[in-house]
Amino acid sequence: MELPYAEPYKIKMVEQLKRSTKEQRLKWIKKAHYNLFNLDSDKVFIDVLTDSGTGAMSDKQWAEMMIGDESYAGSKSFTKLKKTVKKITGFKYFLPTHQGRAAENVLFSAMVKEGDIVPGNSHFDTTKGHIEFRKATAVDCTIDEAFDTSIIHPFKGNIDLNKLEKVFKSNPKEKIPFVILTITCNSAGGQPVSVQNTKEVSALCKQYEIPLYFDAARFAENAYFIKKREAGYEDKSIKEIVKEVFSYGDGMTISAKKDGLVNMGGFIALNNKEVFKKATVFNIMYEGFITYGGMNGRDMGALAIGLDESTEFNYLESRVEQIAYLGKKLVEYGVPVQQPFGGHAIFLDANKFVPTIPREEYRAQALAIELYVVGGIRGVEIGTVLADRDPFTRKNRYPDLELVRLAIPRRTYTNNHMDYIAATLKNIYDSREGAKSGYRIIDEAPIMRHFTVKFEKI
Ligand SMILES: *Cc1c(COP(=O)(O)O)cnc(C)c1O
Repeated sequence: MELPYAEPYKIKMVEQLKRSTKEQRLKWIKKAHYNLFNLDSDKVFIDVLTDSGTGAMSDKQWAEMMIGDESYAGSKSFTKLKKTVKKITGFKYFLPTHQGRAAENVLFSAMVKEGDIVPGNSHFDTTKGHIEFRKATAVDCTIDEAFDTSIIHPFKGNIDLNKLEKVFKSNPKEKIPFVILTITCNSAGGQPVSVQNTKEVSALCKQYEIPLYFDAARFAENAYFIKKREAGYEDKSIKEIVKEVFSYGDGMTISAKKDGLVNMGGFIALNNKEVFKKATVFNIMYEGFITYGGMNGRDMGALAIGLDESTEFNYLESRVEQIAYLGKKLVEYGVPVQQPFGGHAIFLDANKFVPTIPREEYRAQALAIELYVVGGIRGVEIGTVLADRDPFTRKNRYPDLELVRLAIPRRTYTNNHMDYIAATLKNIYDSREGAKSGYRIIDEAPIMRHFTVKFEKI
C-alpha cells in the first residue's frame, strides 16, 4: 500500500476553537454590518480571513523569542536577521519595518512621486494604495490567462512583456521609478511567477534602465512552485531558487507575516546605496532607528529563524499541498475555484458560484457572508469591494474576477478542518439557486474601504 502524506511536524501547543449556531452567527454578522473584518475572532470557528501573521511559530522560533536583544541600538537580534536576509536574498542593504505596508511606505517615499507610473503584476491592495496615495498610477501588466479561472497555466502571476514594454515606450523613463513584481501574485490568486519570466522582465527593465523590485511576501511559496513546475529546477534546492530569483532584481519589500513565519514584521532589502540612504531617513521617521525599524528584538530573532524554516522543502510541501488538498476536494464537489490552486489560498469564483446576484450588489461579499453564516468560516472578498473606487471618477471599479479567498494560516489547521470547509461549501453550492440579492454599501472610507465598509442586506 502506498503511504499517505504526513506533516513533517507535530503539535506542541493547542488553542481552543469555539463553535456557534447558525442563529447566533446571523445575529453577529448583522451587528457587524455584514463586514467580516468587524467580527470578534471567538465568533469564528475556522478563520481563513488571511494567512498574514496568523501562522504557528516553531519551538526554535519561540526559543529565539527568549533571547531577543531589545537594545535600542546595535541589537544582536538585528545582526542575526541582517545576516539571514543577506544569506537568503543576496541583497546588500536591509531595513526592518513593522510590516509589509510600512516597507512600501518607506521605499515609495524615497522613490515614487506624483504623476509616476508603477507597472507590475496585479499590485496588492496596500501596494496600490501607497502608489495612488502619492497620486501615481499602478498599471497591471499581468498575462491575460490570469483572469480566466478555468485556464490551467503553471505561472499565472507572470508579467506580459508586451504590455510592460508598451508602458515603457509610452512614458519617459523618469516617470517610471521601478517595476514591482509580486511573488507569488496575491491579487491574481496566489499564482507564481517563473524564473524565465523574472529573467525576461529583468532584461527588459535593464534595457529601458528601470529598476526591478519584488513584493516578496510569498517568495518561498513561489520558489516551491518553480521547483515543481519549471524545467531545469527540479533538482535545485528552494534556497538556491530563491537566491537566483532575487538576483534578477534591485531590491524588495516584504511582509514577513507571510513567508517570514512570524506574527508581525517586514523589511526592505536592496542593492542601490543611494536609495538605501534615502529610505533610511524615512525609516527612522516612520518606523524607528535602523537597528529595529518598528520590530522588537525578539521578533527580529524569530524572523531570522522563520526565513530559514520557510525556505526548506519539507515545510513548503506540507504548506502548499494542504492548499491543494482543499482545492481538490472542492473541485471534486463541483464548486468553482480558481485553478491551478494558489500557494496560500483557494479562491472561490463567485461569478460562477452565484451569477444570479447582481455585481452591483457585491456577489463575492454575499458569498463570503453565506460561508460564515452556514459554517462559521471567515474568508474574505477579493472583488468589487476590495477593488475600491477609481481615485479620479469615484465610480466603483469592477474587476474581471469576483473572488472569495480562503487563505490558510501556516502550520495551524489540520486537513480535518479542510474537510469541514469543503463540506460546508458543497452544501452552500447545492442550495445556491435561491440566491438572488446581495448587499448595498451604507458607509465607506475614501481609500482601502474594505476594512471598515458597512453594508445592509437588500
Ligand atoms: C500582505 C501583503 C502586503 C502588505 O503587507 P502587510 O504586512 O499586511 O502590511 C503587501 N504585498 C503583498 C503581496 C502581501 O501579500
